[in-house]
Amino acid sequence: MARSIYFFGAGQADGDAQQKDLLGGKGAGLAEMTRLGIPVPPGFTVTTEVCNAYYAAGKVLPAGVEDEIKAAIGRLESLLDARFGSPEAPLLVSVRSGARASMPGMMDTILNLGMNDEIAAGLARRTGSERFALDAYRRFILTYSDIVLGVARDRFEEALGRARRDAAARLGVDATRLNSAELERKVPDSLLDPASLAALIQRQKEIVVGATGSPFPDDPRAQLGGAIRAVFDSWNNHRAQVYRKMHDIPEAWGTACNIQAMVFGNLGDDSGTGVAFTRDPSTGERRFYGEWLPNAQGEDVVAGVRTPHPLSRSGSGGGATSGGGATSDGADDASSLEARMPEAYAQLVAVQARLEQHFRDMQDLEFTIQRGELFLLQCRTGKRTGRAAVRIAVEMAREGLISQREAILRVDPGAIDQLLHPSIDEGAPKRLLARGLPASPGAATGQVVFSADEAERRAGQGKAVILVRSETSPEDIHGMKAARGVLTARGGMTSHAAVVARGMGKSCVAGCSAISVSQGQMAVTIYDDHGHATGSITVKAGDLITLDGGTGRVYLGAVPTVPAALSGEFAELMGWADAVRRLRVRSNADTPHDARTARNFGAEGIGLCRTEHMFFDEERIQAVREMILADGEAGRRRALAKLLPFQRGDFLGVFREMAGLPVTIRLLDPPLHEFLPQDEAQLEQLSQAVEISAKELRRKSQELAEYNPMLGHRGCRLAITSPEIYEMQARAILEAACEVAAAGIEVEPEIMIPLSMTRRELAITRALVERVAEQVFAEKGRRVDVRFGTMIELPRAAIMAGELAEEAEFFSFGTNDLTQTTLGISRDDAGRFLGAYVEAGIFAKDPFQSLDVPGVGALVELARDRGRAARPGLKLGICGEHGGDPSSIAFFERAGLDYVSCSPFRVPVARLAAAQAALTAESARGPRATD
Ligand code: ADP
Ligand code: MG
Ligand code: MG
Repeated sequence: MARSIYFFGAGQADGDAQQKDLLGGKGAGLAEMTRLGIPVPPGFTVTTEVCNAYYAAGKVLPAGVEDEIKAAIGRLESLLDARFGSPEAPLLVSVRSGARASMPGMMDTILNLGMNDEIAAGLARRTGSERFALDAYRRFILTYSDIVLGVARDRFEEALGRARRDAAARLGVDATRLNSAELERKVPDSLLDPASLAALIQRQKEIVVGATGSPFPDDPRAQLGGAIRAVFDSWNNHRAQVYRKMHDIPEAWGTACNIQAMVFGNLGDDSGTGVAFTRDPSTGERRFYGEWLPNAQGEDVVAGVRTPHPLSRSGSGGGATSGGGATSDGADDASSLEARMPEAYAQLVAVQARLEQHFRDMQDLEFTIQRGELFLLQCRTGKRTGRAAVRIAVEMAREGLISQREAILRVDPGAIDQLLHPSIDEGAPKRLLARGLPASPGAATGQVVFSADEAERRAGQGKAVILVRSETSPEDIHGMKAARGVLTARGGMTSHAAVVARGMGKSCVAGCSAISVSQGQMAVTIYDDHGHATGSITVKAGDLITLDGGTGRVYLGAVPTVPAALSGEFAELMGWADAVRRLRVRSNADTPHDARTARNFGAEGIGLCRTEHMFFDEERIQAVREMILADGEAGRRRALAKLLPFQRGDFLGVFREMAGLPVTIRLLDPPLHEFLPQDEAQLEQLSQAVEISAKELRRKSQELAEYNPMLGHRGCRLAITSPEIYEMQARAILEAACEVAAAGIEVEPEIMIPLSMTRRELAITRALVERVAEQVFAEKGRRVDVRFGTMIELPRAAIMAGELAEEAEFFSFGTNDLTQTTLGISRDDAGRFLGAYVEAGIFAKDPFQSLDVPGVGALVELARDRGRAARPGLKLGICGEHGGDPSSIAFFERAGLDYVSCSPFRVPVARLAAAQAALTAESARGPRATD
């Protein structure tokens, strides 16, 4: 192994920003900032290779690493003129994990390491603040015990409560009737006096002995070794695993470990700590944005224990919430960093501008001010909402910071999904419950739940839930994932809840101080317009609420929503994407309404119009059932005649919406049994309507039931036994097409045969369609161009594609069925075991969501080659779920298909993904001469 340790400090660093793989994002960022001459406390990074070697050796640090660490500590000591383990000039460090990809809150950080009783006393002398030194010490014991010794944090709760009560008594505050949250508000950490802190430290140590059987480690070197091991161990803790799985982060990456000299934001009112974004992570607006807390350390801001203040005065374009949250009034201007520490603020503004220019992307920064002196502790590419991602990419391209191509590649297609979803209908009647911070946009309605486990459980039952917590912590990740939205009582725009929700694209309202959560219910204080409390109401688990993450408002009940309004930047980005993509994007749409939505989202045609949904309409289902139950062809034709005008009307509407664009209509596909009544009451009703006895109906229904309907009498097999169904459908399509054409509207109907596997099936159905077409054209006195094609959904169809292409003018890969039939896995039954398959790494992703490229993809390519060999210019499309999945779209681009078709809301996602696929394919073919 090469060197295990990379040092940074005093303007020089062994590593740089390119070495994220080796140093983790945090380590690489610290090295790069140091090189840029930005003030960063010195330190060093133990590489991810060491982490991997540690695991490979069965959790043992490789030989020599400890000596290297010792040497690096020595360098720190001489740089800072302090000594690790010495009470005279104590050097304290933080031990911070940092993987290649940022995993906020996933890994554990230990602050103030290198303490014992003597060192704490020395620190008190050196800083002139006993309170500060003891506070740092007791925090260190708490985190170290939790993370390294496995003594959970809450075991110290009671001791802390006692310290608060001690302090309250000294302050003359009556604490007897306060619950723990109220007590904390009355006696915050900053009011704990040295005597209470000293007693607290004693108690904490006793708790550790009680829990572990050994005293708290006094030796700073032992502390350091334990902490480094714990950082490596945390790479495999439960919440890190959950996060990795959600974000496709390989286990093999490992984490780096950063050891860095401490700076203190809790040394008094001329100190503080905060986080900043170079642009607004929620809206993308170009303004310096962030939050800070005076006299506070490290995680106080993210932990949401105190609600932080804005960095900038609102008048100067800063402020936490321009949308009218809890923190945009004049009081916040006064508590802003800009007002309180103008010099440090000005320096921070200069640093952030420099970092954004340097990294050419929006940065997320952590800083600490120690007695007026600014230090940067972290910089990384900032997480952002989909809306912000679009705005930032487009504006940076306009500013010339990045190219248009980079802008296209910058935006995660999955993330723009959230832009396309509805927001609160401002006009609808609604009851405002409370207001918090607009932490992550989007409207969400659901039942209130108070724990992550409960969220997961109810969501598993198909319920929409809103997770309500005082504040969230990494342990809540699974619940946040399951919930539609998250509401917290405490914490700012950069609290855990806010950051994680934005990453997930979930609605989140944070820091909603009007609510207080306890014992399975939430009390909401109601305020009048002047901000006076007028009463309160109680919301229980299971009650419905609606969040508006864009404004921070919380409503009682379900509030109606309105469709997304797409911004100018969004349209601009889409325009750039459309200019570079090769794949066409169509939509799956069964109704005129869906067709209009699809067209508004930029669909270039309909790739799949399913006709069976049209049959379920109340007025028609009766005729459908009559048709199914009829004994002979004559009876069937009578029933079909009733359906004809309905179907024609459907197609008329769709053709009008899609004027000038192709519309692929799939003839009837599902097994007929699906249309029969599913329960006794419906059966009785049907029996009366069709004048067949219920008994007879039951017999017929049983007759039609199949053991394996997916592989049964469905698709074009229906037309082989009862051609009159497809005849009626073809007639409805062609009559509608002629009618629309007569009105001067351009139509491009494409008739698609499902589930074919032989040339003969296509020859028969094609002859049928052609015969009907000639009849209709003769009757209407006009002809329209109509294309005939088939779906490819069976392995045999893919294999026989050469023959099928002689009858079909186009193929559309029905990748849902093609996946089912190729894998031999029923989509409806896969839920029971597919999760385990993904878990075991048998499939990287659910093959019904993300195409199985080596298997199903190979059949797609085979069918493409054989089909095009038989019919040059054969049009190829895909219309399964995979048509809206970015990684599948990348494959369809490589495979040279003509179009993908996906659900209307996915159309913009597919347009962007197709553009990215085209750009990636292009750069894979070779470097461009110019950009
Ligand atoms: P995370 O990855 O959860 O953000 P970090 O390692 O960044 O964890 O640290 C948690 C908090 O502690 C951050 O607010 C960070 O700025 C602060 N911190 C870390 N190291 C130091 C240090 N050496 N001096 C002061 N604050 C620190
Ligand atoms: Mg952390
Ligand atoms: Mg951090």
